[in-house]
Amino acid sequence: MGLMDGKRGIVFGVANDKSIAWGVAKQLHAHGAELAFTYLNEALEKRVRPLAESVGANIILPCDVGSDQEICSVFETLREQWGKIDFIVHAVAFANREDLKNPFSQTSREGFGLAMDISAYSLVAMTRYGIPLMTEGGSIVTMSYLGAMMAVPDYNVMGVAKAALESSVRYLAAELGQKNIRVNAVSAGPIKTLAASGVGNFKEKLHIMEERSPMRRTVTQEEVGKASLYLLSDLSSGVTGEIHYVDAGFNISAE
Ligand code: NAD
Repeated sequence: MGLMDGKRGIVFGVANDKSIAWGVAKQLHAHGAELAFTYLNEALEKRVRPLAESVGANIILPCDVGSDQEICSVFETLREQWGKIDFIVHAVAFANREDLKNPFSQTSREGFGLAMDISAYSLVAMTRYGIPLMTEGGSIVTMSYLGAMMAVPDYNVMGVAKAALESSVRYLAAELGQKNIRVNAVSAGPIKTLAASGVGNFKEKLHIMEERSPMRRTVTQEEVGKASLYLLSDLSSGVTGEIHYVDAGFNISAE
């Protein structure tokens, strides 16, 4: 018996086989879930489609999460095809490269809004369109980072967006608990991915984890996948509004 047998849900945020969203999708599939996927644009569709098909998905849709219309259309397709869903994986973030590179005080109004929109507001929008499909309850998981709760060098506007994301998790959890819809975040340590390549001095952040984190190593997509599996399955049926750290450096020891 798989932990996710009989459960259906959608994964936002696969760009390639290094994506955290793909690490989560593989765990969900291995435990019996039926999955739908979205991709940002045609260039990424070429990478996402074969991955999605390899885990038996046949709902694979375009979605720019900056568009309510596109998010709405994705959930409309899920309603037509499945009637209901059990979970949503939100593993999407974006900030302009210059807003990650420049000193934080130089962040443009536009860049601040964009990072907030794609990286934080999109969770609220997805949840709004997902609620009517979670007729038997559900679980929503998003991806955060330590920069939400402390000023991590080079993380800048993305840290502010992650703080808004984590706060959104708590407000959504408080609102939706009585519908048995749970909302949680996984806050993972640094992992080499496409998105991570936009964060300055990323290699240094990996080295710091290897030298000082409790396990003296970085974490893997698979480990984030397993933590997400816990939050998306009934194993965590009493857990909501939580930020779940996967060796995010929270317990880092200064040497
Ligand atoms: P990734 O580049 O593989 O994934 C980011 C995804 O966001 C991509 O699939 C990209 O297509 C998507 N995206 C960007 N703008 C979008 C838009 N407008 N509409 C739809 N999709 C859009 O990188 P990742 O590291 O797997 O990132 C996934 C999540 O994990 C992000 O929220 C990231 O902040 C978070 N995270 C990453 C790390 C890390 O070190 N890699 C650590 C903690 C948290």
